[in-house]
Amino acid sequence: MSGILTGKTLVVMGVANQRSIAWGCTQSLLAQGAKVILTYQNDRLKTSLERFVGPDQALVACDVSKDENVEAAFKEIATKYGKVDGVIHAIAYADKATLTSGLVNTTADGYALAQHISAYSFISVARYASQVMKDGGSLVTLTYFGSERAIPNYNMMGVAKASLEASVRYLASDLGAANIRVNAISAGAVKTLAVTGIKNHGTLLKMSRDRTVDGKSVETSEIGNTAAFLLSDLSTGITGDIIYVDKGVHLM
Ligand code: NAD
Repeated sequence: MSGILTGKTLVVMGVANQRSIAWGCTQSLLAQGAKVILTYQNDRLKTSLERFVGPDQALVACDVSKDENVEAAFKEIATKYGKVDGVIHAIAYADKATLTSGLVNTTADGYALAQHISAYSFISVARYASQVMKDGGSLVTLTYFGSERAIPNYNMMGVAKASLEASVRYLASDLGAANIRVNAISAGAVKTLAVTGIKNHGTLLKMSRDRTVDGKSVETSEIGNTAAFLLSDLSTGITGDIIYVDKGVHLM
């Protein structure tokens, strides 16, 4: 099928299941004609992915907790599939104690882990992906409004997202000369595995839905379509930016 991504090879990191934002993005990229390579965190998730992705789907291991894993993943992708034109980074993690306690109780270890997986990993991905993006391209990460406002129970993840958003701006500056753009989508709340780790996530999801302009939560397909645009040549003027796909929640 031809579309705005025809001829592009794109890597999507962070599909855990069919509710994942990364899975919604994958559908949009495929619908726009891209070749998509998925990375997975561990063997358990690989087995789970294999149940729904189809036998021809390219899968590459990448636990982002170690730089060498990220480097190896992009080398493997370049060797097997040639150059890369773009990446979606849809990865975040904080341990339960850190997520469920207020920021005031966050330990040094909890802080470091959340920052490492949720923010630093995007820097690592940008470094190793850019080495195989021979014709330039586009990097997209996922953030949330809790970076700007103290959203109840979002706690340490809000601090990590603020760091991720600052990283977007500096990476856009660093990689501009290589013709690589870097942006984030600030998505509205969606019920995924990651969200269920947040204390009282039902309240967070309802609060978010109640503030959308039409009273309906954003769909992962809507987030995915914006990701497709940001990875396409239709958005070459946009870099270092945070694009809201939250149906107006940040305005209300
Ligand atoms: P999800 O649970 O489906 O995806 C999270 C992914 O992170 C999983 O695939 C998991 O395997 C991956 N991950 C965690 N640690 C990893 C590691 N060490 N190495 C490799 N992968 C690792 O949840 P989601 O909501 O789709 O989350 C995707 C992104 O979207 C996250 O950055 C999240 O913060 C962001 N986001 C989510 C919402 C929401 O409401 N769901 C809103 C805004 C932004």
